Amino acid sequence: MTVVAAGSILSPNPAWGLMNPQEAGTALFSCAATNWPRKTIGEINVPQQPSPDLESILAEVDRSNIEATILKLVSFGTRHTLSVQNSTTRGIGAARDWIAFEFQRYANASDGRLTVETIGYEQPSDGNRILFPVRISDVVATLHGTETPERLYVVSGHYDSRVTDVLDYTSFAPGADDDASGVAISLELARIMSQPNYPRPKASIAFAAVAGEEQGLFGSTYLAQTYANATPKVNVEGMFTNDIVGSSTADDGTADPFTIRLFAQGLPPLTVENSTARERRLTIGGENDTPARNLARFVKEVADNDATGMNVSVVYRLDRYLRGGDHRPFLEAGYPANRFTEPNEDFAHQHQDVRVEEESGKQYGDLPEFCDFNFIARVARVNGAALWSLANSPGIPRNVRVNSTELSNDSIFYWDPPAAGEEGAGVGGYEVVWRATDAPFWTDVMDVGLVNEITVDLSKDNVVFGIRAKSADGSRGVAVLPFPVS
Ligand SMILES: [Zn+2]
Repeated sequence: MTVVAAGSILSPNPAWGLMNPQEAGTALFSCAATNWPRKTIGEINVPQQPSPDLESILAEVDRSNIEATILKLVSFGTRHTLSVQNSTTRGIGAARDWIAFEFQRYANASDGRLTVETIGYEQPSDGNRILFPVRISDVVATLHGTETPERLYVVSGHYDSRVTDVLDYTSFAPGADDDASGVAISLELARIMSQPNYPRPKASIAFAAVAGEEQGLFGSTYLAQTYANATPKVNVEGMFTNDIVGSSTADDGTADPFTIRLFAQGLPPLTVENSTARERRLTIGGENDTPARNLARFVKEVADNDATGMNVSVVYRLDRYLRGGDHRPFLEAGYPANRFTEPNEDFAHQHQDVRVEEESGKQYGDLPEFCDFNFIARVARVNGAALWSLANSPGIPRNVRVNSTELSNDSIFYWDPPAAGEEGAGVGGYEVVWRATDAPFWTDVMDVGLVNEITVDLSKDNVVFGIRAKSADGSRGVAVLPFPVS
């Protein structure tokens, strides 16, 4: 067992400022007052910087490709899930085939590293948003990893569109922002990352375009279930949906072109984590450290930087009010999943009939003229940084535990290697990370080497801990909250 020695600095009483307001003055909320508990171990958790490979990948994201994809998808008139599927120029069938053709073009130039599949099923009418039986198709291009190809990360946008009436499957439904923008990101990242002049990632990445989102998340549900029901269950260690990532300008003109929201759910559905496990999670204060939240913290660390030019604003909730998204079926299948969405929305340009209101002269509808293609390119870079960093990490350690069998001010942790094993996953060592319980992101880190057990001289009662793996070249993975040894 390795014991990390503590120094001799004692923590100041955290309530000192409250008890001595005069002396504390403005320092009441300073770092000294809020950075509790004091510790003498570990280092400041400095976010992982992009590798030269990643920087060159991000530099290749081209706004003109994104613009061309969105204009092409808009040109199909409508991509409503119930629209025609037997035309080459109009309807969701034409859009599906064009997306598959584009992915296949990249696959043909990839030296066999990218493969493309169109998968789907017949969805019966449901008496709700599916008026008649319809084929739901997902187009998926998979970039096969070199070391742990069975570990998968998924990025998706939905290619179906809608107008004001969700059952209207013939009117012009451009869906430029919602969600040709998300599909354009899947295509552009697949194009770049599959090129043979870049190294292949260690794990696999699936670039997806799904249908049926507006009618009830049908395509993403089918994709998530396809992975979950495979034998063995596909090890999806992270999924992102890009849905409405086309503009940063709100209806009141507020613009925030350098911020992207990332929605991350707290407690997993009860079908994924049963009530006993949930009770235990609540007992230890683990409700803010679910797999989805720690995936989002990872994205913040690797993608909020100069290489992407973006701030990643993590929102600790499943989604916006009244809205749903394609990450949800993945969460329900037990996979960590987050949603990217623009920082300010303009509801005149979502789910609207394309029209000019007579009185105001205002243009409604989800038209490409309201998209900011430079913004979408930056969102693509955020996704690229997250996916590349994930796929070159060793993945998550398993069975991460903390010893709580006796009263102690030490914290003793145990864990198992990632699914592929230490050698298979290329684990070079592990890190213990922590933060104050009221802090949003990891603040401190300690390199503990290639071990599977560590004693840290810092009380588990006062901070939140996580254990993460890193590869020999230092690429870090997503941290995992330890659960008490039972
Ligand atoms: Zn959408």
